[in-house]
Amino acid sequence: MRCSIVLACVVVGVLATGASAGTSAADRAKLWADGVEFVNAVHAEDPGKTVEADLAQKVPARARKSLERLLDLDDDEEGLADALLVAGEAAWDLDLADDFGRVRERLAAVAPDRVEELGVLVSRDRFVVRGVGGLGAEYLANFADVFDTILTGYDKVFGFAEWSKVPGKKLRVRVRLVPKITRPPHFAPQFKYHSEIDFPVADASAFNSPTPDGKFLFYGLCHELGHVIAMWGNRQDQADHHAWAHYTGVVLVEHLAKSAGKKKHMKPLRDVKWRSLELDRKTIEKDGTEPSTKDRAGVMALLLALHDAVGPEKIGAAINHLDAEDKRLRINRVRYYTFAELRDGLLAVCKSKRDKKRVRALLD
Ligand SMILES: [Zn+2]
Repeated sequence: MRCSIVLACVVVGVLATGASAGTSAADRAKLWADGVEFVNAVHAEDPGKTVEADLAQKVPARARKSLERLLDLDDDEEGLADALLVAGEAAWDLDLADDFGRVRERLAAVAPDRVEELGVLVSRDRFVVRGVGGLGAEYLANFADVFDTILTGYDKVFGFAEWSKVPGKKLRVRVRLVPKITRPPHFAPQFKYHSEIDFPVADASAFNSPTPDGKFLFYGLCHELGHVIAMWGNRQDQADHHAWAHYTGVVLVEHLAKSAGKKKHMKPLRDVKWRSLELDRKTIEKDGTEPSTKDRAGVMALLLALHDAVGPEKIGAAINHLDAEDKRLRINRVRYYTFAELRDGLLAVCKSKRDKKRVRALLD
């Protein structure tokens, strides 16, 4: 709680004295956003078993009142559209879907040309998906079904216990409609209080993958979740040479093609023909790549060898074990691992002598 006490004092001071509780639209939005920031900051310092749904009621009354005062302003109030966008961002930061909807409604009346900057939300048990740039509610609900299926697949295959870098917070996916996809989806680590994936799409009519121009969006989503769970080495030295997220991504694409391929929302996702563990296995065998940590091919061979030796559920259990100890590196709360730590985690969760021997052979 150490850092948050300082922040809490600053925010509580503002909230209690009304020092900056001005009357402008911007002031009102700021007081609301500060209230949300306060709740998130206190939670992040000591998450305990609190989940995001419990946090909504902790927003200070003064901040909540400020939102009401913002929503009550006349349409021609200076800076209202900008202030509503700030308020909507804050609602998203705490999964306050009702407040987000009310802000959106107000923005649609005041500045209809800016409402797609705020977009639409779909909130589910473990994640919130936000569509910006003109994606419809139906598109987003379908996307959420796909994301739910992917997370359920990860549960079955790896059993990762905590998805968010801040325990208890829901994952975020920001799906952005763009004229042309110029960069793949990516895990955006900069957000302070939640883990978020940035996900550009160019076709608002349906979520298909691969796209006609060869973008593997479905694999990309599975891949980014690998980054969300684990980064490797540190900021300068990517110890896995970017193989880990590829490994978890192709494992999931392959698993879901077999286990969920017939679901209606999964049928348009056909990446398994080009992205699967089986294809990587063939490449590794053909090239005779030995497991190592020296380059991407070596790490991929290493992860495949571990997958075959102890199984992905043990790899997931090892990550969970390391998370429970919470001693490894965190940068902006994002979890970073080393292969030595993975070895220790695997040795802790593998009970049989045979498995321990296999782990040592690959990671010592
Ligand atoms: Zn990646």
